[in-house]
Amino acid sequence: MFLFLFILLISGAFTQNPASSCKNCAVWNAPQQPFKIYGNTYYVGTHGLGSVLITSPAGHILIDGALAESVPQIVSHIRSLGFRVEDIKLIVNSHVHYDHAGGIAELQKLSGARVAASAWTADVMRKGIVPHDDPQFGVIFPIARVAQVTTVKDAEVLHAGSIAITAHLTPGHTKGGTSWTWRSCENGQCLNMVYADSLTPVSSDDFLFTRSKDYPNAIADFERSYSFLESTPCDILITPHPDFSKLWQRLEQRNSNPNALIDPAACRTLAGTSRQDLKARLAEEGHGRK
Ligand SMILES: [Zn+2]
Repeated sequence: MFLFLFILLISGAFTQNPASSCKNCAVWNAPQQPFKIYGNTYYVGTHGLGSVLITSPAGHILIDGALAESVPQIVSHIRSLGFRVEDIKLIVNSHVHYDHAGGIAELQKLSGARVAASAWTADVMRKGIVPHDDPQFGVIFPIARVAQVTTVKDAEVLHAGSIAITAHLTPGHTKGGTSWTWRSCENGQCLNMVYADSLTPVSSDDFLFTRSKDYPNAIADFERSYSFLESTPCDILITPHPDFSKLWQRLEQRNSNPNALIDPAACRTLAGTSRQDLKARLAEEGHGRK
């Protein structure tokens, strides 16, 4: 009897809709008008969670699926921009937390696209669990399982239609964190686009980045990711949480300055603030965090 109740409790916890108990989800899922970022790159996410569509006449790429309950918004954004969800050929992900990957299973079903992810991320997607070596194990929701995921390596270039997108492993926030770069052109001017994964040292209360048995390389991983951000050509930065790259502020400035989204220093700036965040977190851990 006890076992039965236990199983019931566990299955309830794992099948419940995150919207019913996620305290940030309503804010993250606030509506947002889709818009062109630059050239063939469009913002199709919610106000709080990024999702980017890169288009070509022979097929599109979608980065991130936000929450499971963001899918209707993402789909209607893509359609209202005049594109077909069925033309998405490839879906990729920044990191496999429910606020960026929760919608991917459904978006894959709707589009028939292939999903490609880093090895660690792909494994989590296939299982639909939060693994022990995720710093946020125990405090976040699992995602819906993704049926078919292919694995990408660092610096691998993926193609869909005429689009080429490069995977850059940027671990730290999770072991499988991935940033993505591509080029978009407008009126003969081609820019370096960067979708940079979250690099925040967020964890459950009992996880320590300085001495985790499950993730012993966490600090070195963050360093590697900051180095990527500091060195990658970066004209327009977009982040899974749009606030982290001041997207709304820059978009408002675009009313008076058509180039307001362009900032070649943006990736280096993000690396700098991320380094400071990690430094503060490590100091906190040194002083007996709890
Ligand atoms: Zn996350």
